[in-house]
Amino acid sequence: MPFGFTGNILHVDLTKSELTVENPPEDFYRTYLGGGAMGLYYILKGMKPETDPLSPENILTFMCSVVTGLPVSGQSRICVNAKSPMSGGIGDSQAGGFFPAEVKFAGFDGIVITGKADKPVYLWLHDGKAEIRDASHLWGKSTKMVDTMLKDELGDPKVQIAQVGPAAEKGVLFSSIVNMVNRNNGRTGMGTVMASKNLKAVAVRGTAKVTAADSKKILELARQGAKDVKNNPDVDGLAVHGTASVVAYQNDAGTLPTRNYTEGQFEGVAKISGETMTETILKNNDTCYSCAVRCKRVVEAEKDGYKVEPAFGGPEYETIGTFGSYCGIDDLEAISYANQVCNDYGVDTITCGATIAFAMECYEKGIITQLETGGIDLKFGNTKAMLTVLDQIVNKSTPFGALLSLGSARVAKQWGAEAEKCLITVKNQEAPAHMPQVKKSLALIYAVNAFGADHQSSEHDWMYEEGTAELYLERLALMGLTNPPPAGDFGPEKVKFGTLSHIFYSLLDTLTICQFVWGPAWTLYGPVEIVELVKAATGWDVTLEELLQAGERRLNMMRVFNLREGFSRKDDKLPAKFFEPLMGVGPSAGIAVDKELLEKAIDQHYESMNWSQEGKPSQEKLEALQLGWLA
Ligand code: SF4
Repeated sequence: MPFGFTGNILHVDLTKSELTVENPPEDFYRTYLGGGAMGLYYILKGMKPETDPLSPENILTFMCSVVTGLPVSGQSRICVNAKSPMSGGIGDSQAGGFFPAEVKFAGFDGIVITGKADKPVYLWLHDGKAEIRDASHLWGKSTKMVDTMLKDELGDPKVQIAQVGPAAEKGVLFSSIVNMVNRNNGRTGMGTVMASKNLKAVAVRGTAKVTAADSKKILELARQGAKDVKNNPDVDGLAVHGTASVVAYQNDAGTLPTRNYTEGQFEGVAKISGETMTETILKNNDTCYSCAVRCKRVVEAEKDGYKVEPAFGGPEYETIGTFGSYCGIDDLEAISYANQVCNDYGVDTITCGATIAFAMECYEKGIITQLETGGIDLKFGNTKAMLTVLDQIVNKSTPFGALLSLGSARVAKQWGAEAEKCLITVKNQEAPAHMPQVKKSLALIYAVNAFGADHQSSEHDWMYEEGTAELYLERLALMGLTNPPPAGDFGPEKVKFGTLSHIFYSLLDTLTICQFVWGPAWTLYGPVEIVELVKAATGWDVTLEELLQAGERRLNMMRVFNLREGFSRKDDKLPAKFFEPLMGVGPSAGIAVDKELLEKAIDQHYESMNWSQEGKPSQEKLEALQLGWLA
């Protein structure tokens, strides 16, 4: 076996029920590394433009990378790509857990899935072998039930399962792929694509270990990282309170989206903070394979006739935002229950919670009434209404729930121009809980990102402002970011930061490494250690420059995919709501994204990327990235 990777890419044709294993050459791995870049390679080569996302011709890829499965924190992640049924452009979503590492242990670096099975099936990958098996008995079952049934059937509790839930089977457009019953490839509707292929699950188990070129160095990195968790307050905050550790902080800064992004501070914040979760319903911490940070939450609660079970983990910051402050809800147990429902039925908590918040604003403004909601008093802060509508969405059990299951952008088209003013979507993708009105560089990245508004596609402003911690600035300086602007700035230096950190985060998604562990600024490991990691894993003499080029390669591949589908600069835009001054109180009251500055930022970004002012990569750029074949 080569160092870092297995050398095996599994191709699955579900229509023909055929499995083949490809052994790409080493230079393929060095060029594409893994994740979205590797997935896009197969999608761009194999899928025709204008393919229906829910047709058998859509190509669904699961990709690990050359570092997945090594015994070091933050490497066990997998990227799923396909044409998105939400946007019609590229879909892209990452998840962690134990499933990604187990794919490598089972003997594969990635899976390329085409076609559609004539009945429900699942894939069983074990010790270098692959099988397509009948899943008729699993169809219609919830993720928790299927997880138990498949482990029993395969006779091994250590089997890792990534699956779609009943929501995807019913065609909820923002369905996720769930592993461990609590980790999600959540965004862009990848679960909906998987279910459209009649593929219920991918089960993996293996005994092979991933061999590193320099296993001593990997061990050294792992030990150093484990020691440094406590020395880094940002990472330690994650370890102690999970991603929810930032709830109170975001609120103080006026960037906790409240009542569908109308305000930036929430009066109920104390009841839904990470500290409150730790003090009340937290039962345990959980982790991904070999990660010393252990940021995952396990909560347990019982309230108002519902039970929150530990198997479903606990709500992340984004989920607390979308089902909490977005909806004006300060009930942590109810938010945790919503998180459980999303995991058990398999839907993206961000789009789902944000779509309910959007409907709440439309109801409050009289754009819709109880005629549309089916008698539900859908006011902000109505917990019972939120849970009722959630149930109707995941089951598509009422006309209202079925409509909302399409996501807010499609719903707004039916409800008219006033509803469109309530949207917080970019490329039909609801914005996560980090406000571009405050974090200005996010205005740029939300607009230009190929798969819509995403908070994990660049570093956030606070890491590159006057007064930022020395270590973070030292790391950013390695990318040529040496002149931190004042807080709140949206000038050329902030735009440069947005562009360069977008490329860096694209590298992280190519290497499928966790952005809470590896990154350009605040994380456990910085750029120097990322180079060391890839070197030690593969034995290749890589440089930071070569790796950043890989990140840029992925961004260009996604851009070309979208161009083929008719996207252009006209799609790199923000919703009207982001240009309206924020209401409420706190430091962000009265603040909006400046339209003119955003257009200037997009001009500068395109120029730095060597793209035309219409957002098209130049031939020269594609050649430089070894993507001449895309021209
Ligand atoms: S930091 Fe959290 S999400 Fe990231 S790998 Fe570790 S446990 Fe998983």
